[in-house]
Amino acid sequence: MLYRPAKAYLNLPALGHNLAVAKKLAPNSKVLAVIKANGYGHGISRVAQQLSHADGFGVASIDEALILRQKGFLHRILLLEGLFSKVELPLVIQNHLDLVVHSHYQLEWLLEFSAPFRINVWIKIDTGMHRLGFHPDEIDSIINKLKASSSDFHLHLMSHLASADEDTLAALNFTQHQVMTFEQVSSDYNLPRSLLNSSGVQHFSSKGFDWIRPGIMLYGSGQLQNSTLKLKAVMKLESNVIAIKKINAGESVGYGNSWTAQRDSVIAVIAIGYGDGYPRHAPSGTPVLVNGYRVPLVGRVSMDMITVDITDYIDLIEVGSMAELWGDSLSVDEVAQWAGTISYELLCGITQRVPMIEIQ
Ligand SMILES: *Cc1c(COP(=O)(O)O)cnc(C)c1O
Repeated sequence: MLYRPAKAYLNLPALGHNLAVAKKLAPNSKVLAVIKANGYGHGISRVAQQLSHADGFGVASIDEALILRQKGFLHRILLLEGLFSKVELPLVIQNHLDLVVHSHYQLEWLLEFSAPFRINVWIKIDTGMHRLGFHPDEIDSIINKLKASSSDFHLHLMSHLASADEDTLAALNFTQHQVMTFEQVSSDYNLPRSLLNSSGVQHFSSKGFDWIRPGIMLYGSGQLQNSTLKLKAVMKLESNVIAIKKINAGESVGYGNSWTAQRDSVIAVIAIGYGDGYPRHAPSGTPVLVNGYRVPLVGRVSMDMITVDITDYIDLIEVGSMAELWGDSLSVDEVAQWAGTISYELLCGITQRVPMIEIQ
């Protein structure tokens, strides 16, 4: 099982450290730790265990929530997209789950239902992202409908930011406008409120309201540029060099001959590929750390292997040398940027065949 050298090491204490960083940014807010998509690919149960100091968890489906309940977590658990079907309502009740209501069809399900006891309902307001949520003008009537129901709905107000991770002036203005809209719409009601994701809490920590909802930062990624936060990477993706070969200037490497050596070169082959979740779109030049030396990926990423140019380090790297694809010393954000994606996708995309090894 562990014969293949590709492995993901998980620095579990880093989760608690990053949670503390998030808390410190918004000390007066409760923290809903977002652990959807199997804990951003790290394993939902182990992540929840490490984040048990959080005030609640955010997940994408009842299936994820039930895993947590079955493991004995008694925290608030919010279904971030609410219900996908009406039949989930009894499960929400039985398992004391919180749910988002973002659309009229969900509102109807709630209003038809007679809840035997209190349900925490989070009304989602669309403040400009135009994905989920009700138009600000509808909020008053939605609150009134829910309040008039015979069920005991404990209401909350939330919204989500579209561009808080971007530093351009346009993005900052847009985010500021979302924050202002949320504040205006929600301030008429004395209800608990939540707005900020990881990048939001880094930009606008004074707008933490009652609950912040950090996700990616808990895993040690998504730190804004020029930020002095000391987030720690949780996942380190590693494998080994399994072959080294010399090629002449003018010869190419890998599928499609997409990279051609400009000089006589030494190439190392590392046992990791898109079959493990390393992005196939990573171009030549994407950094890889081999024995701690930063070397460029060259040629196409294969299913089980990548090739890197170690010409400048021939005496320092050999078969068996350790390669870090991302981790503490090479940020997953940087690799994602090279590959034209975001760290979230890389972390979620680690495949089943990569063993996850917990470091306590
Ligand atoms: C995923 C998600 C978050 C967390 O976002 P990050 O960018 O990972 O911090 C917060 N709120 C909602 C509604 C989400 O879907």
